[in-house]
Amino acid sequence: MPLELVQGDIARQDVDAVVTAANKQLMGGGGVDGVIHRAAGPDLLRAIRQIGGTPTGTAVITPAFKLAERGNKFVIHAVGPVWHGGKSGEAKLLAGAYCESLKLAAANGCRSVAFPAISTGVYGYPVEKAAPVALQAIQEFLHDHSAMTVRVVLYSAEALRVFERALA
Ligand code: ADP
Repeated sequence: MPLELVQGDIARQDVDAVVTAANKQLMGGGGVDGVIHRAAGPDLLRAIRQIGGTPTGTAVITPAFKLAERGNKFVIHAVGPVWHGGKSGEAKLLAGAYCESLKLAAANGCRSVAFPAISTGVYGYPVEKAAPVALQAIQEFLHDHSAMTVRVVLYSAEALRVFERALA
């Protein structure tokens, strides 16, 4: 299956590129971003400081640094939207974060990418609403990139169930 849904930890995935849920200053700390930074080591922070920032709905790519020990080649820093009730273009921005990440992965020769559920933590995007947006963006991309495998890594069993229902 080119699209996999699993429960687990984003920092422990055997894929070419792991995606982190960053903020637009690329200066995260908590949640997924904290986990990725701890696993990749301080060189990751130095690399994104040089980039500076990226708008909501876009992504940037860096080396994976210490995560290379797990086989990861790149970290993709995707900036999803903060949830403001759904009428502020959140769905388009969330789809953009997935789509831009996948384009960066493909442009850098990746064959496999793992995503967390972007925006569904501190940013407050309801997972029931985020799941169909994420899955549609991924499936549209896979339609044109059949050699790519995309894994969505859900932290909780409940989030996994929500994504599984949305996929079905
Ligand atoms: P955002 O600021 O984009 O909302 P968060 O990092 O706060 O990003 O959370 C995004 C999602 O990642 C949440 O659903 C959260 O439960 C989940 N999450 C937290 N830790 C991990 C982890 N180690 N691996 C995968 N997902 C995680």
